Amino acid sequence: MSQANSSSKQEIGRFFLPGPTEVHPDVLAAMQRPMIPHRGGDMVQLLTAMEPPLQRAWRTGRRVYIGTCSGTGFMEMAVRCGVRRRALSLVGGAFGERFAGIVAATGRDVVRVDVPLGQTVEPDMLRDALKRTEVDAVTLVHSETATGALAPLEELAAVVREFAGVVLLVDAVTSFAGSPVETDAWELDFVLTGSQKALALPPGLALGVASDRMIERAKQVPERGAYLDLLAFDRAGIDYQPTNTPAISLLYALEAQLRRIEAEGGIESRWKRHQHMQEIVERWVRGRGGELGFQFLPPVDRRSWTVSCLKVPSGKSGRALAVVMKSKGWVIGSGYGPLKQSTIRIGHMGDHSPERVEELLHTLESVAV
Ligand SMILES: *Cc1c(COP(=O)(O)O)cnc(C)c1O
Repeated sequence: MSQANSSSKQEIGRFFLPGPTEVHPDVLAAMQRPMIPHRGGDMVQLLTAMEPPLQRAWRTGRRVYIGTCSGTGFMEMAVRCGVRRRALSLVGGAFGERFAGIVAATGRDVVRVDVPLGQTVEPDMLRDALKRTEVDAVTLVHSETATGALAPLEELAAVVREFAGVVLLVDAVTSFAGSPVETDAWELDFVLTGSQKALALPPGLALGVASDRMIERAKQVPERGAYLDLLAFDRAGIDYQPTNTPAISLLYALEAQLRRIEAEGGIESRWKRHQHMQEIVERWVRGRGGELGFQFLPPVDRRSWTVSCLKVPSGKSGRALAVVMKSKGWVIGSGYGPLKQSTIRIGHMGDHSPERVEELLHTLESVAV
């Protein structure tokens, strides 16, 4: 049987990879509409109609940018347009590492604050680092998908505000649409996501919001590039235009998904469902899962609502467990990088239900004994 056949047989509701996540059939179906010109009334109408639900989801009154690239593209936009000379990069896993790497790769200086895998940089550590080092930006990952750790974003953002001239660039790729991201209330300067995580669209779009401070910063950086120039996105957005030819089919998917989010009761209901799914994993680890030897990698109060990274019982391999789960019809993530053997990752994000998470954990018990 070909790979395509075997994956198309995958039963709906059992694909728990921490990205790409499962896409609802209604969202997939929405992509089959015919093309429209990207410089015309239909496109303007599409982008105009999506603005209010996007702003509600992002908790912002500002423009929401949509780009045709994966999340990493907007990480690069954040750095190219937000970092003038030197950034402080908070690193607790592979995606924090990626952000720091982009700072270096675009010719800026990077100063790192590293914490062990599973942990997060805490507000006083950040304040100390900002006092010691002169930087003009901070990069951080809200939900570190590699370790399942959730940074205390509201508190960290408040610390950054104590330092004039420092912008905060936030990777909210696996937190947005699955746990609170208060763009305006927390005064985030640039916050971004990718379509294939908690938003549960196919991969290929990046979304983000910039503060006035960020726009002003971008104006001070002449070498912003072209395709990922924040100011070009901002200008095009005034008239609800795309910058270049957008991924039109993915915009249809986004429009359909925004309608589904509103139908669920809005973004807060979506957060609640994710919190519920996370609590089910918590309860399992305190009970049967813990008896079997599963433990959370991140400490209490620092666990992502969308991805649970669990240390596997001693003598077990995370990779092997993911393979056995696959043979039972369930897809989970093995560990990332150095955590490949010692952990598994359950991506309970997007359109999954608490009932399915229970079922998944039940199956995990049966293969882990
Ligand atoms: C998935 C992900 C990204 C972006 O990865 P892409 O492959 O570019 O979509 C960035 N940050 C985090 C935390 C992620 O989980």
